[in-house]
Amino acid sequence: MSLATGRPAHAPAGRGGSFTVVDPATGEAFGEAPDRRPEDLDAIVDRAHAAWRGWRADPAARRSALRAAADAVDGAAALAPLLTREQGKPLTESHAEVARTAARLRYFAELDVGTQTVVDDRPVHSRLRWRSLGPVAAIVPWNFPLQLASAKFAPALAAGNTVVLKPSPFTPLATRMLGSVLADALPEGVLTIVTGREPLGARLASHPGIRHVTFTGSAATGRAVAAGAAASLARVTLELGGNDAAVLLDDVDVEAVADRLFWAAFRNCGQVCMAVKRVYAPSRLHARVVEALAHRARTTTVGSGLDPLSRIGPVNNAPQLARVERRTARARSDGARAAAGGHRLDRPGYFFAPTILTDVPSGSPVVTEEQFGPVLPVLPYDRLDEAVRAANDTGFGLGGSVWGTDLDRAAAVADRLECGTAWINHHAELSLAQPFAGAKDSGVGVAGGPWGLYGNLRPFVVHRPREA
Ligand code: NAD
Repeated sequence: MSLATGRPAHAPAGRGGSFTVVDPATGEAFGEAPDRRPEDLDAIVDRAHAAWRGWRADPAARRSALRAAADAVDGAAALAPLLTREQGKPLTESHAEVARTAARLRYFAELDVGTQTVVDDRPVHSRLRWRSLGPVAAIVPWNFPLQLASAKFAPALAAGNTVVLKPSPFTPLATRMLGSVLADALPEGVLTIVTGREPLGARLASHPGIRHVTFTGSAATGRAVAAGAAASLARVTLELGGNDAAVLLDDVDVEAVADRLFWAAFRNCGQVCMAVKRVYAPSRLHARVVEALAHRARTTTVGSGLDPLSRIGPVNNAPQLARVERRTARARSDGARAAAGGHRLDRPGYFFAPTILTDVPSGSPVVTEEQFGPVLPVLPYDRLDEAVRAANDTGFGLGGSVWGTDLDRAAAVADRLECGTAWINHHAELSLAQPFAGAKDSGVGVAGGPWGLYGNLRPFVVHRPREA
């Protein structure tokens, strides 16, 4: 095992060369990861299959291995700084991500779906047990490399499956280090990390030895993954994009909620699937909401995530920065005004000024599509029905929120949102025990809580005559 290189002990050496990893705070390459070839997956999936036999057989051993894995993650001090270096997020957010990774391992280590009697009427007794599926492919994006990886491998492993995990080529290093950290706790072949550029992910998703593909990323790639998995009829779980709306009611206390609302949009530089991506404010409060958010956007310190003063880091990568710039420029040419920011920062790295947009036409792509960056449009409304209709007028359905003083009224409005999770006076808070699933194009299948475990299991029923 090598913590210095971050090379997972269980991953065979790469044969396809390597690729560079860029620090988004400088724009400079600072590391390398093996560029595995798609054909390498045959041996890797075979090993995952071989490891499955032992791993699925002993739930008690699994439980203690997962507990040890959680302890190992808690003790891995080097993970958070490396995560910040390659992803860009402030160090405090990286520490939170590492802690969440350990917490998720611990949560699933203790979760047991047990067995159930499903029919007990003479003459039949039928009993339901849950069985593992086999090797699972986990494919994750660059915004929360460790947290999203663990959201996949913790329930998959707890269910008795083995996992082949592919991180994004933008953020492979902390995941490789995580693999090294876990190598002492998990038997060989149970969790394998493979890094590389496309078509590695496409091959993994369609590999005939994979029984479940669990993917987080964009809707376009999710469709390709589902099509690939269809060839072997592997199960798919897809956690895709979002375009979450926050609907402010006319009794909202703007100053009281402004901080929470701001960070619900700008945490991780806005690169959060369930970030607030549009705000709808009553016309009479609109200027105050814009000013409260713009003030925070102007005064929040932006800089390298390794600088303890930074609260917002860079955008993770150059193509994403270009996307954010394009959407902002298009909104401005559509007539929008930047109440704060609106431009790239004049310094090395992929920094974009936290941006609050007003006077945005409702058809502008910054409203209709996912911006996935530090840009937030604030739109006025006159009638609440109009705001609810606009909030739902998107192909996505990940989350949404309603903000106001009368909580029952806010809850009644939240009921009308077409999404997987609706928050009141909050956004993007998730407990490990909660199901997480998107409506519409935001996903297929359920993660989180016991539902996340069931997603990695298949029912097995024994139907027998009932004894007299
Ligand atoms: P992406 O779809 O480009 O990439 C995701 C992963 O898929 C990466 O590992 C990538 O290398 C891999 N990949 C690329 N092409 C592939 C293919 N043809 N087959 C298999 N794998 C392939 O997404 P991204 O740009 O890395 O991440 C941003 C997107 O992820 C946003 O849309 C965001 O909303 C979404 N996201 C969703 C959630 C959620 O839980 N719903 C969470 C985080 C991010």
